[in-house]
Amino acid sequence: MIYFILGSCFGSFLCVVAERVPISQPFIIARSRCVNCKRVLSFWEMIPILSSLLLKFQCRTCHKRISVTYFITEILYGLIFLLSFKQQTTIDCFITLYWLTVVLLLTLTDIYYLVIEPKIFYPSHLTLIAFLFYFNFPFYWESLVLYLIICSIILLFLNEALGMGDLLLLLFWAPWLSPHELIQLLFIASLTALLTYAIIFLTTSKKVRTLQLPFVPFLNLGLIVAHFL
Ligand SMILES: [Zn+2]
Repeated sequence: MIYFILGSCFGSFLCVVAERVPISQPFIIARSRCVNCKRVLSFWEMIPILSSLLLKFQCRTCHKRISVTYFITEILYGLIFLLSFKQQTTIDCFITLYWLTVVLLLTLTDIYYLVIEPKIFYPSHLTLIAFLFYFNFPFYWESLVLYLIICSIILLFLNEALGMGDLLLLLFWAPWLSPHELIQLLFIASLTALLTYAIIFLTTSKKVRTLQLPFVPFLNLGLIVAHFL
């Protein structure tokens, strides 16, 4: 329980980082403020998960809606903490936490701006690979070959189905997943993405048909289920 609470406290910080890094704003500020009316938030308005519920997802003074993303991220990051600290060894715990934190950050930038933010992606993933090599995690050549085959099929036949960013992200992950895990990841990600698209397509009216969905959230889900659970 303590890990969950600890994680959820960092969750809203991740949202702030994901919101500000792509637009080059400083993300370390003295006190949290309402984005709309700039009022400094009091302590009880900054309790993760509970505050959003108590305030009914709006600012107390200006009634500007607070994004549900904060609420969901706080819960998710709490669960990520829980999952990480359940790992057998300290190294596994560290890698799990680092990998999933980075992926959650990229998930958020993809949701906010439909980009996999390069300023976060390259440094974080190069260090991730360095850690994985350093700690001798198994490297699967088969998965890399499988990735290249899938990649060429996608690029040849399903043009634009996946963004280049998504493919690049998968390139960094693929060698560290067994072929079985890689296929499972792709299956879960595409299935949930299709389902989500179908639900949005059926429930919203008119011209949302050109709608672009961020794909990293689904890759993230696939990674957690296939590799970490
Ligand atoms: Zn306000």
